[in-house]
Amino acid sequence: MESPVIDARALYKCYTLGNVQIPILRGIDLTVKKREIVALMGPSGSGKSTLLGILGGLDLPTSGRILIDGIDITRLPESKLAEIRGKKIGFVFQAYNLVPTLTAIENVMLPAYFVKGQKKNPEELLEIVGLSHRKNNKPTEMSGGEQQRVAIARALINNPKILFGDEPTGNLDSKTELKILNLFLKLRDDYGSTIFLVTHSDEVAKIADRIIYIRDGRVEREKNVEKLKN
Ligand code: ADP
Ligand code: MG
Repeated sequence: MESPVIDARALYKCYTLGNVQIPILRGIDLTVKKREIVALMGPSGSGKSTLLGILGGLDLPTSGRILIDGIDITRLPESKLAEIRGKKIGFVFQAYNLVPTLTAIENVMLPAYFVKGQKKNPEELLEIVGLSHRKNNKPTEMSGGEQQRVAIARALINNPKILFGDEPTGNLDSKTELKILNLFLKLRDDYGSTIFLVTHSDEVAKIADRIIYIRDGRVEREKNVEKLKN
C-alpha cells in the first residue's frame, strides 16, 4: 500500500496561560493519502485551526509526530522545515495573511521566489479566481472575498503537494465558492495534490472524499463520502 502523505500520531497541543496548561489537542491520530480531499469539521474552538497549523508545519505540537511524505517535520531545524513548507505545502489562512505593501499579483508571486520547480502563471491564477482586474491593487483596496481569492491563488503558485485551507471559501458567495472548489479539484487531478480543508460549508464537504469531525481536541468520528460515479 502507498504510504500516506500525512501521517500524524498522538498529537497533543497545550497552551500555557500563566501557570496553567490548557489542552487544545488531546491525542489526534490521522493519516491522509495522496490525492485525497479531506474536510475537517467541528464546532468553533474545537482545535481545527490549531491542528491545521501543526499539520502544515507552522506550529509545533507539545508532543506527537507528523510525517509529511515520510519526513518527521516535528524534528527538523527551522531552515529545513521552511524548505519543506515552500516546496510541498500551500496554505490558505483564515485571516488571509497577505503582505499589505504588495499588490495582488506580487502577493501571488511571493512564494515562487523562495522555491525552485514548476510554477503556475500568476496572471492565469488571478484570472481563474476572477481577479485579473484587481492585480495591481493592494489588500486594503480589496474586499474580504477578493483578499481571500488572492490568498488562494498565492497558495497554488508552487503546485503544492498538499494544500491546507482554513475555511478557504468562508468569505465567498456560492458561485465563486464553486469556482474555487473546481480549481481545487483540478489541482488534485492535474498534480495529484492532497487537499485538507477546515470548513463549515456543505459545498466544500461535498467535494471531500472523507470528513473528519473533531470536538474538544479529539477526532469524534470520520465519514467516507460516497461519490456518484458517472
Ligand atoms: P477552531 O479553529 O476549531 O475554532 P482553534 O484551533 O482556533 O479552534 O482554537 C482552539 C482553542 O485553542 C480555543 O479555545 C482557542 O481559544 C485556543 N487557542 C488557540 N490559539 C491559542 C493561543 N495561541 N494561546 C492560547 N489559546 C489558544
Ligand atoms: Mg479556526
